[in-house]
Order: sequence, then C-alpha cells, then structure tokens
Amino acid sequence: MRILLVEDDALVAEGLKEGLARHDFTVDHVESAELAEAALQLEQFDAAIVDLGLPGKNGLQLIADLRRKHLPLPILILTALDTLDACVAGLDAGADDYLAKPFRMPEVLARLRVLIRRSHSHLTSRLQAGSLVLDLGKRTATLAGAALDLPAREWALLEALVLASPNVVNKDKLLQTLAGWQSEITPNAIEVYVSRLRQKLAPAGLNIRTVRGMGYRLDEPEQDT
Ligand code: CA
Repeated sequence: MRILLVEDDALVAEGLKEGLARHDFTVDHVESAELAEAALQLEQFDAAIVDLGLPGKNGLQLIADLRRKHLPLPILILTALDTLDACVAGLDAGADDYLAKPFRMPEVLARLRVLIRRSHSHLTSRLQAGSLVLDLGKRTATLAGAALDLPAREWALLEALVLASPNVVNKDKLLQTLAGWQSEITPNAIEVYVSRLRQKLAPAGLNIRTVRGMGYRLDEPEQDT
C-alpha cells in the first residue's frame, strides 16, 4: 500500500514514515499542498495523510480542491489537538477521518487500514480467493489453511492482486505500490516476485496470469458445477 504523506513538520514526518514502513507501507513524503498536488498528478496512491497546518495552501484547501476534482483517494487528517474545529472543517471538506496529535502509531495504522479497505469496498479485513485467505489486519496469509510465508514485497503484490481480483492490476500501479521514490524497483523485479508467488500459489490451483501490455490478474481455480 502506498501512502502520500503531506506534513511540514520534519520530526512528525520521520516518525510516521518509519512507523508505516515497519508495517510494509510505502510512504512518499512532501512538505506542502502544492507538492502533494504535483505528486498526485504523476503517481497513484492508496491513501493520503494530510496535516492541516501547512505553509502556502493549507491542508483544508488541498482536500477541498482534491474533492472538487473528484479524486477518490482516502484521506486521513492529522492535526494538533487544540484545533478540533479544524478537524470538523476537514471532514466537511471531504476528508475521511482524522487523528489528533500527539497520536500513537497503532492508531494511525488502524485508521489507515479501515480507510483503504473501505475504498476497496471490502467491509471485512479478510480477503479470500479460492483457498487463499489474506488477513489484512494481521498481515498473514494462509493457503488451504496452512500459513504462507511472504516477504514484504510478495505480500504487497499479492494484496494488490487479491484486492483488484477479478480485474487486472496495471503493471505501473504495481511498481508504484511496491516502490517509493527513494527505493528502486524494476519491472524485472516485479516479474521475479510474480514468479515466486506463482510457485507458492500453484498447489492451490491459483495462478497469476500475465495480461500482455496491461499487467497481472489473479485467476481462481475453475469450479465444477
Ligand atoms: Ca504543520
């Protein structure tokens, strides 16, 4: 999952980036609303965390502008505790949820997961494809009841495929999900992760199909009727 963090306080930003990275989120950080808009024009994100007090255009204006453009991005507001009115204004402007500073990391993670899940229209934290079950909260996967060992990037890839299923996940979108601006990942590396996942999923009859010129799709086993 790739998060755009819009925060001008370097300390807060560092803390969030570290905490989120530890839970396998890819975080890209910008310090102003203007840079956030530029990033959103170029790249795809699964959610944004937006501080309200920003230099230049403030977070509230940013959110209002994004919603005017009908950008469906889930947005979590961060703000100082003494500006609760601003939170309400943020929600009115189109943010999905808010957190008051100082916040605790588990709370940030929980709120983000809820927002992202909701944006994918999945109401539970369990996703299923054939005998594959992903628990998004615990970040565990089982295949036919047996635990599946997945390094971070394989997990992220599989999560994107299952969330999109039965639709194709665009290869560019996968590259963006797995990498941030600061880490490098090549299309060839994606192929490697896909082939590892194929080997792990094959025993359950699941396949990751390459859709030429587009990306990948998770194919569930054919069911006899
Ligand atoms: Ca600020």
